[in-house]
Amino acid sequence: MNIAILPGDGIGPEIIAEAVKVLHVLDLAIQTETVEVGGTAYASQGHPLPEGTLKAAKDADAVLFGAVGDWKYDSLPRALRPEQAILGLRRELGLFANLRPAILYPELADASSLKPEIVAGLDILIIRELTGDIYFGQPRGRRQSPDGAFIGADEAFDTMRYTRPEIERIARVAFEAARKRKSAGHAGKVTSVDKANVLETFQFWRDVVTDVHASYAEISLDHMYVDNAAMQLVKAPKSFDVIVTGNMFGDILSDEAAMLTGSIGMLPSASLDASGKGLYEPSHGSAPDIAGKGIANPLATILSAAMMLRYTFGRTEAADRVEGAVRKVLADGLRTADIVGKGTTLVGTKAMGDAVVAALRIK
Ligand code: NAD
Repeated sequence: MNIAILPGDGIGPEIIAEAVKVLHVLDLAIQTETVEVGGTAYASQGHPLPEGTLKAAKDADAVLFGAVGDWKYDSLPRALRPEQAILGLRRELGLFANLRPAILYPELADASSLKPEIVAGLDILIIRELTGDIYFGQPRGRRQSPDGAFIGADEAFDTMRYTRPEIERIARVAFEAARKRKSAGHAGKVTSVDKANVLETFQFWRDVVTDVHASYAEISLDHMYVDNAAMQLVKAPKSFDVIVTGNMFGDILSDEAAMLTGSIGMLPSASLDASGKGLYEPSHGSAPDIAGKGIANPLATILSAAMMLRYTFGRTEAADRVEGAVRKVLADGLRTADIVGKGTTLVGTKAMGDAVVAALRIK
């Protein structure tokens, strides 16, 4: 298992260190190579995604990514900003499927802004298409200065586009995931979210998803408009199992779902290519406001490493062990500052990582 480790900026190195510690305690044949990315790479190598970093990511079986970005790089031209590294990696590695579970551990039910009876026990999976849609359309109507500012423009527009193969492959990821989840006791239901009533692109999306569904008779499929999905996510989030949607709607809905759990520091994500190779990262950013303080929650990154074991390496048992260890430390009352509550014990980043390692050592 060759893993490229890209810690990045802000809290990235702190949370990655804990996830790497957890991986090494599992007694698996793991080899790692750590390389710079984001603002850190820009500062020392002049580019947020240097050649060597891209090569290491391409050569590896999987990438474990911390986070990139810092306000101090906000004035750089867009192409050199740290966040471009993540877009470049998605493009270069062909990562077209973004999987984001939104899970609310019973111990953290109070962290949600919704009533516990609506969210407690929430366990849904949002699958976002990652390399198409309006984010990769043709931006038009621009007359920009070199620093990217608009000069005297009267309009700007971007084109929304999906091809049949792009929709087919993301639909298959969703149905396959629903099948796996069904065998673990979930409903076996895919909700495809679109805006077919207004956008041609999403009428096409709906038709293609329906075609792909024909090969997955045991999984149920329903279609929902994105505005309704945004409402249902706060009204009855547990009515979903797997949600699949396009790049832009997925961007928004996955953040909404993340907030249902009240703790962005808890949520992992996976971005997969057609062969199952993946980039695994926490759903949150580089949190420059708390960087270097040793208080960041490493659990989203540790859970991302568990997703890596599950999806790229097929090591279900090891993934289950890591997730079980995370549940144990929560049940023991350990909390980083972002999730701390009454009657719980406040710990820092390193102590949280150590506790997961200790839980893994108990057979
Ligand atoms: P953020 O997710 O970094 O932080 C939002 C809030 O959540 C902050 O108050 C932060 O302290 C807190 N937070 C985030 N992760 C936490 C953790 N593990 N433990 C405890 N608290 C945590 O989002 P932001 O502030 O909007 O963005 C900061 C930088 O991160 C920006 O430069 C942005 O572009 C970048 N960003 C990067 C990624 C990525 O690398 N994939 C994703 C989102 C944002």
